[in-house]
Parts: sequence; structure tokens; C-alpha cells
Amino acid sequence: MLKGKSAVVTGSTSGIGLGIARSLAAQGANVMINGFGDPADLERLRASMEKEFKVDVRFNAGDLSQGDACSTLIAETEAAFGRVDILVNNVGIQHVAPTQDFPVAKWDAILAINLSSYFHTIRAALPGMQARGWGRIINTASVHGLVGSIHKAAYVAAKHGVVGLTKVVALENAEANITCNAICPGWVKTPLVQPQIEARAALVGGNLLDGERSLVGEKQPSKRFSTPEDIGALAAFLCSEAAHNITGTTLPVDGGWTAQ
Ligand code: NAD
Repeated sequence: MLKGKSAVVTGSTSGIGLGIARSLAAQGANVMINGFGDPADLERLRASMEKEFKVDVRFNAGDLSQGDACSTLIAETEAAFGRVDILVNNVGIQHVAPTQDFPVAKWDAILAINLSSYFHTIRAALPGMQARGWGRIINTASVHGLVGSIHKAAYVAAKHGVVGLTKVVALENAEANITCNAICPGWVKTPLVQPQIEARAALVGGNLLDGERSLVGEKQPSKRFSTPEDIGALAAFLCSEAAHNITGTTLPVDGGWTAQ
């Protein structure tokens, strides 16, 4: 379905981003992965994806809290594959604390990584997409782009910002055959939520499984985690021709969380 297309997925060495990168590669796209990790492990990951999906997979280690690293990531992808057809902004971090105690450095880092990096990559990738008259931009927002939760001031502010950015980019490029959408997951079991599982487990008696059940059951009516593969499948659909008229929208994958 995506044979010959070129994709970049930010924050894709783990979790949801890796699920999306694998899903796009499975559809035939060449993929630039980005993120942190042990260099030997990441080289094994890159090479195993190339072998499994028979596509070109490259790796960029840029720290996307820096605007320059975001534009370099797009330039590197254009140099490697000739262009960027699909941009998936997915990088994100979390910190939980009551607003009055929220560390200022954490606020700044979350805004830079979870919101500003999305602007910087989109800004760099759009001219090429506009010149070719085809593009797919997918932003991993969150249910927290749609509703709030206590102790997540920076994360909720950044994710609401991503939803706003998504709408503006969609409107500006609607006629140019470039779509821009936000996927809004509820709970997905990845390293990002592990500290929250552990904190909840400590509150409910120490058992990790009890912690998971308590955390997910509290807000997600399905009481099931989503998987990175679930999100990857939706991203691949949004890149398909069938999705050419889906733009500027938010797609919850949240087990009913935002239906309540
Ligand atoms: P994760 O921790 O598994 O993955 C985060 C990725 O980002 C990793 O590849 C990491 O190396 C990379 N990364 C972190 N900081 C970076 C930086 N400064 N520069 C470059 N790369 C960096 O997290 P995840 O749960 O897969 O989250 C991915 C996205 O999904 C985030 O935007 C997150 O907010 C969103 N999300 C997650 C959930 C969930 O329940 N896990 C729910 C809704 C939304």
C-alpha cells in the first residue's frame, strides 16, 4: 500500500512510535526511526526491520527538545530517501505532579518535546509535501488532548496544543492533498506509563497487575490497554488513499474514555 513512500516517525525506538514505524514498514514504506537507546540495540532493531519488511530503514538519534534537531531530522530523511511523504510526530515524555509543585524544568521540557518539536518537523516537511501535492501528517496526541486529568498540567496543555496545531495545518493544506490528523490514545502499555503503574501498584497493595487494573479501569471503560500495534494499524490506514478526505480530526483509541 505504501511502497515507494518515505516516512519519518519521531520517538520511534520504543512503544507507540515503534508500533507505527513497524506498521508503515510492513506496508512497504521506507522509514526513518528516531529516539534514544543503546546504539548496539538500535542497530539490531534497524537491521531486523529492514530484513523483516524488505524496506530501507535509517536511524536518527536527534534530541527533539531542540528545534534544530527537528529540522535536521527532516533534512536527513530527505537526503536518505529523496523526500518525506509521511511525517508521524509521536515523541513524548510525561511527568506527574500537582500544578503548584510542578517543576519548571519539566514544564519546559514537556512543552518543547511534546508540542514544539511537532511544529518544527511540520514546518520543515511541509514545503516538500506541498511541491509534490501529497502528504500525510499524523500527530500522536492523547485523550489528554481532549480532556484533562489531575497532576498532568504540562502534558495536558501540550496535547491540547497538538490538537490545535493539527487543525490549523489541516486547514492550510486541505486543497493540497496533505492531511493532518491527531490520534488520541487512552492507556497504551509502554515504558512511558510504567512509573504510573508502579505508583498505583504501591497504593493498592504492591502487586503490579493490580496496579494496572486499577489505573486502566478507573477511566477506560473497556478496562483493556491498547497496544502499539493497534495505533500502528490506524496510522497505516490514515496514510492510505481511502483516508484522503480525513483531515483536521482527532481519533480517540481510548476504550470509551472520552464517550463518558
Ligand atoms: P515511550 O516512552 O515508549 O517512547 C517514547 C519515545 O520517544 C522513545 O523512542 C524515546 O527514545 C523517544 N524520546 C524521548 N525523548 C526524546 C527526545 N528528547 N528526542 C528524541 N526522542 C525522544 O512512550 P509511548 O508511550 O510510546 O509514547 C509515545 C507517544 O504516545 C507520546 O507522545 C505519548 O504522549 C503518547 N501517548 C501515550 C499513551 C500511553 O498510554 N502510553 C497514551 C496517549 C498518548
